[in-house]
Order: sequence, then C-alpha cells, then structure tokens
Amino acid sequence: MIGGGHAGVEAALAAKRAGASAVLVTAEPDAISLMPCNPALGGVAKGTLIREIDALGGAMAAGADETSLQFRMLNMRKGPAVWGPRVQADSLCYPLFMRKMLDRSGIRIVKGLVVALRGGPDFFTGAELSDGGIVPGDAFVLATGTYLGGVLFMGGEKWPGGRYGGLSSRLLDSYLKTMFHVERFKTGTSPRVVTGTIRTDALEIQDDHDVRYRFSLDSKEGVRSLKKCHLARTNRRTAEAVRENAGRSPLIGKRIGGVGPRYCPSFEDKVMKFPERHSHPIHIEPVSETSRLSYINGLSTSMPQDVQYRMLRSIDGFEKAEIAAFGYAVEYSRLAWGEFGATLMLRGTDNLFAAGQILGTSGYEEAGALGLLAGANAARVALGFSAETPDRRSSYLGVMVDDLVAKGIDEPYRLFSSRAENRLHLRQDNAHLRMNSLGVKLGVLRGTRLSGVQRFEEQYEKAGLLLSEPLLNSLCRRPEITRECLEARCSALRELDEEAVQAAIIHEKYKGYVRRQDRRYLAARQHWNRPVPAGFRKSGISFEAVQAIEAGNPETLEEAFGLPGVKAADMEVLTIYAMAQGCST
Ligand SMILES: Cc1cc2nc3c(=O)[nH]c(=O)nc-3n(C[C@H](O)[C@H](O)[C@H](O)COP(=O)(O)OP(=O)(O)OC[C@H]3O[C@@H](n4cnc5c(N)ncnc54)[C@H](O)[C@@H]3O)c2cc1C
Repeated sequence: MIGGGHAGVEAALAAKRAGASAVLVTAEPDAISLMPCNPALGGVAKGTLIREIDALGGAMAAGADETSLQFRMLNMRKGPAVWGPRVQADSLCYPLFMRKMLDRSGIRIVKGLVVALRGGPDFFTGAELSDGGIVPGDAFVLATGTYLGGVLFMGGEKWPGGRYGGLSSRLLDSYLKTMFHVERFKTGTSPRVVTGTIRTDALEIQDDHDVRYRFSLDSKEGVRSLKKCHLARTNRRTAEAVRENAGRSPLIGKRIGGVGPRYCPSFEDKVMKFPERHSHPIHIEPVSETSRLSYINGLSTSMPQDVQYRMLRSIDGFEKAEIAAFGYAVEYSRLAWGEFGATLMLRGTDNLFAAGQILGTSGYEEAGALGLLAGANAARVALGFSAETPDRRSSYLGVMVDDLVAKGIDEPYRLFSSRAENRLHLRQDNAHLRMNSLGVKLGVLRGTRLSGVQRFEEQYEKAGLLLSEPLLNSLCRRPEITRECLEARCSALRELDEEAVQAAIIHEKYKGYVRRQDRRYLAARQHWNRPVPAGFRKSGISFEAVQAIEAGNPETLEEAFGLPGVKAADMEVLTIYAMAQGCST
C-alpha cells in the first residue's frame, strides 16, 4: 500500500484480513490517517458508508466511535431511512487509534517516499523509494491522496506539499504520467483558531444528540458527546474583505488551475458566485479534547494571512480571535476517467490498484471505503483469485464505484444520497445485512467479525418473525410507533439485540416504500430512450444537472444519466417531466 491516509490504512487492513501479508509504505509514518481538514466523520450517505466499511470488517467505524467528541444524527426530523450519523472526531486520537489497528494486525510500516514502480507496464514487482530502496510485492495500491504532484497556495505564496507541513509526491506524479492520463483537482481548508480567543457566549450552541448509537457492531461503548459546537454567521464586512482583496486570491486570480469541490467551496468562491447573499453560516467545531484549537467550518480560504484575519475578525464573537493555523488550498493530480475499472485495478495492468483522493473523490469516508475494496482486491490478485466489484443496487460503495467508472467525474466527488436510485434501501441500519455477501466474496469478513455480523443477522430474523404477527405488524408500520412501544407489547423483542430489532422495525416500516421505489425506477427506465425534453431547465432538476446537460448535450434520457453531474434523483424528476411533456420515443 502506497500511502498512510484513510485509503491506504483501510487497504492494508483489508488486504491482511483477506489473507495477504500487507506492507504500508508512507512518507509520514507518524501521521497515519491524518485529518487535514475538519475532523468530522459521517453525515447523510457518508455515515451509511462508514457503516458499510464496518460491515466489511474495516476500522473507520470503530475509530469514529472511540474518538468521538460530539455526535449528531442528521435528518432526525425525517424518517429513519434518511438518517445520517455524524461525529466530530478527536483529530489527535483518531490517527493513534488507526496506528494501533495497523500494529495489532501485524502490518509492517515502511517509512519512505515512493518515486516509481518496478516492472510494468502490466505486472509490477516493487515500489522504488527515493533513497533507492525497493519494497517488493505481488500487488500494489496507490493511495497518495492530495500529495500526488501536490502544490499548496496561500495568497501570493505557492509551495510543494500534499498538506500543510507535508511533502509533495512529485516524482511519482511524473512517473505515473508516463503511463496514465492524469488531471488536476483542488481542495482547501479553513483556519484553526485559538478557542479561548472566541467569545463563544455570543454564539449559538449547536445541538448535539445524546442518543445511544455506535457506528461499529464491534464497539463496546458507542459515540460520545463531550464537547459543544457553535454556530456563527459571516456578514457584509466579511464579504467586503474578500471583494476588496479578490485579486490577491490564488483562486479568483486563476493561479490555481485545478477544479474544486462544488459542495465544499472556498469562502471567496461563495462570495463571488452568490453576491446577493450577505451572510453565510459557519460552524465552530473542536479539533480535539486536548487541543485549544477550533476548526472554522465553512470558512475555507486561501487568501493571504492579513485578509484571513480581516475576514475572521469581522464576525460577531471573533473580534479578538487569534489564528493558530491559516487556511490554504492544495492542488493535486488524480487519475482521469477510464484509467481504472470497477475492481479499482488500473487500466492495462494486472496487479496495480488505486484508491482514495487519487481516484478523484473527496472525503475520509469515500477514501476509506475505496481503500478497503482496493486492498481486498489487491490481496485477492496476489493470492491468485479474481478481483470483485460491489453492486450499485446494494451499497453506497457500489454507487460510488459505478459513478466513478461508468460516468466519470469532472470535479471532486462526494457521496450524496441523491446519487442512489434506491436510497430508501441503502440505510445505515441495514448496512451489515446488505454487505454480508460482498464481505464474504472479498474474503475480508472472518473470525469474530463474521460471527458478529451473523449474530446480528440471526437476531434481525428473529425480530422479523415476531413483527410478522398481524396486530404487531400493523402497529409497527405506523410512523409514530417506536421500538419502545413495540417492546411494551411484545416482551420477546426485549430479549433480542436492540440494533437488530430497530433494523427489523425500520425494514417493516419501509418495505412498502422500497418496493414502490423499485417499481417506479424500473418503470421510469422504460422511458429512458425518450429525448431530453427541450424545457429541461424548468423541470426541477439540480443546477449541477442543468449545467451537465447543457455541456454534454445528450440526445436521450439514458445518455443524460451517463453524464457526471446528473444524479439518480435528477433522473426521477427529469423522466416525469419528459413524460408530462409527451416527448415521443
Ligand atoms: C487542505 C485540505 C483540505 C481538504 N478539504 C476537504 C474537504 O473540505 N472535504 C473533504 O471531504 N475532504 C477534504 N480533504 C480531503 C481529505 O483529507 C481526503 O479526502 C482524505 O484524506 C483522502 O484520503 P487518502 O487516503 O486518499 O489520502 P491522504 O489522507 O491525503 O493520505 C495520503 C497518504 O499518502 C502518503 N503518500 C503520498 N505520496 C506518497 C509517496 N509517493 N510515497 C509514500 N507515501 C506517500 C502521504 O504521506 C499520506 O500518508 C482535504 C484535504 C486537504 C489536504
């Protein structure tokens, strides 16, 4: 595994679980699974992805539980099908936890900067280090994150690096360019502020949820809420600071060429693109239980330091705020569309895989899940088995891989529930039931992890049987009826595992909707040979989809769905609109 970030670590652990002996080569062995942006894990779809990682025996879920500082279940006011568990993790403890997982699994960690691979162009035999050393292997996973050809920007300054204080992987970038098509993306981060210099009493407290929850079936204790997060808003003066210094921004001044994440834009981007909005929310979130710093979520910027101070101190409560680490942007290389397939093996190779930010995704969860798949497949190939692919219909991992491979991307990819056509089925509560067969096929679910999942499955089935009793069943399907109500009526439920019972209840509540969603999807697909309706801009699809269709000019609905910016949720709206417009086939 080349890289000790979220992808490399899950890849190494998965390869080991799949029966291979894994070596993790990283330029920064003291910075395993670092969180260079906000140390938050989960959310809608992303939280479900963490559960899927757990269901495949990965470590991120247990790490999220163990190092949680604050927990929120997003979408709690909506039905459980769309709940999104999210923790603010301790950015100092999380890397230590992951390092412990690697050590406990007996994974060898080699310090070194990989500059090229030996062998090739199809079968590779070793990773070549900058000091001339060779790490031999039967299969390799590239998980180089934002480091591949990484360049950092702040105001007029520009220097090589994969993150602040980190190296740039320049030689490997040049080497890979001789074999693969590589494109540039960018991302950025916000300043970290000394918490004691913020007037938190002037800020709104962000509600946390004191509910029992655990990401991992393996965790004895669930998530904890130890620290408060706060909310603030920027104002006209914050925007003025940006506008008056627009020329000094490397982003606005177009000194950064890479494409940035649409859904996590820098603050200067928000100000310039939405001049009519004079205020934007920001979240003040702790970075660790033992740190005196807070992360200012929503104020990602690569403005010069004096402008960052002016922006920050314009906000109520931040008049005397001290910045401990300034925001910056990073531009990096990623493998272009067509360079990898659904097993995450690279085009034209027999034993080279890639995962994480190098595939164009953004986010710890996406990197972790892809790493797990790539690591397991690398192990399978090394051991003489065939590599496996996840299924789009049964997991967010499958949705993500299919989107990356079949559609391609033109900006950093983030997972959303709207990307999945059957999102009512892809829930956090049933992740362990959905992923079981992939876990077994990949060979990553073994021993106590496998028996834990099997036990969950048994308990779930027992609960399902109890809930099939007609009176209990009709009660269960009523939205206001909770697990506690049902347990009061059926004491046998109380003897079963609480999470399995909850999953069985949610299944009962949603199975009618899930079936209807499937039927609608299949019926809609029959119309995908219709032309894209002329008035598609007014159909109610997302702005991203409008832009994608305008640029791609697809003839049919089917072709429209093949475009990177068109999500499953857009297709539902667009198909209904096309039918209402009476477009002929
Ligand atoms: C400034 C910044 C802002 C970000 N903002 C966001 C955001 O807003 N939202 C979001 O979701 N995500 C954001 N991220 C991205 C998030 O950090 C990544 O998505 C995630 O860390 C990717 O995981 P990874 O494993 O692919 O790579 P990384 O976590 O980047 O890890 C890469 C690893 O590879 C190692 N490495 C690289 N090259 C070599 C080599 N040649 N030899 C040996 N080792 C090597 C590095 O030392 C490191 O251990 C941001 C990242 C940065 C740096």
